[in-house]
Amino acid sequence: MNWFTEILHSDLAQRLRVDEILYEGRTEFQDAKVISNGRLGKILVLDNVVQTTLGDEFVYHEMLAHVPLFSHPSPKAVLIIGGGDGGLLEEALKHPSIEKVTMVELDGGVVDLAKEHFQELNQGAFDDKRTNLIIGDGAKFVAETNEKFDVILVDSTDPQGPGEVLFSKIFYANCKRCLTESGILVTQNGVPFLQASELAGSVAHFRDLFNDGSAYVITVPTYAFGMMALGWATDDKSLRQVQLSSLEERFKKANFTTNYYSPEVHKAAFALPMYVKRIID
Ligand code: SAM
Repeated sequence: MNWFTEILHSDLAQRLRVDEILYEGRTEFQDAKVISNGRLGKILVLDNVVQTTLGDEFVYHEMLAHVPLFSHPSPKAVLIIGGGDGGLLEEALKHPSIEKVTMVELDGGVVDLAKEHFQELNQGAFDDKRTNLIIGDGAKFVAETNEKFDVILVDSTDPQGPGEVLFSKIFYANCKRCLTESGILVTQNGVPFLQASELAGSVAHFRDLFNDGSAYVITVPTYAFGMMALGWATDDKSLRQVQLSSLEERFKKANFTTNYYSPEVHKAAFALPMYVKRIID
């Protein structure tokens, strides 16, 4: 029996049984693997770290997309940084108010793998006429563009290798410059139980730059060792306090089904366990 061991943290590792190796090679930027596992289905691995799995991607992609997109009263323009597998793009495009989603992914090789092996996940989202896919560095894009976005979603790798710059203060400052007045920035911020300094660092930067900086939590089976944190930054403090009845109305109007997201889960995700609160405060 063949096992893949993910070593992301210094003290703990997770192992996944490999039933089949569907791809193994190197893109221009990173080592890439597509493996399959009986419980999780197909799994995308970059630089030996699990990025997404067909079995549990819905938790991460729904919560990264729908929490900000239902908090904002009428999001039209969305920017995704990273997100090469296309799962987040697919969720964002479900919102009827969305006119354009610009996705800036560093590694065209990841998009090619996603188109070949993860069609169940991206469901043709790359071909949607509202999609504007740019292959390039997300940090460079936000430093140079004059476009404005209602919501920016950072679906990055962990802060090592090409993803490191996506956790820097200058990157967040440039994101703020690209947001409309009540715009929202949401970021992938790791597992606080093991990556506390990563979350503390991001939220400290948010609070220096924005009127409201915080995080919300989700439980993704393959991002092992506790809840995962998603960072939240905006100048409009009311957006973290949207009434349950408004969320219910927006969700009903959007008229799509989910597997994890619900208006109640949305509200509850901002209730942080004390150990997470201490990290960000
Ligand atoms: N959900 C995943 C997780 O939390 O592990 C992240 C998945 S997504 C595939 C991450 C993507 O970010 C990768 O495809 C990677 O190429 C991309 N990426 C890393 N650094 C980047 C940068 N500086 N600009 C744009 N995309 C970047």
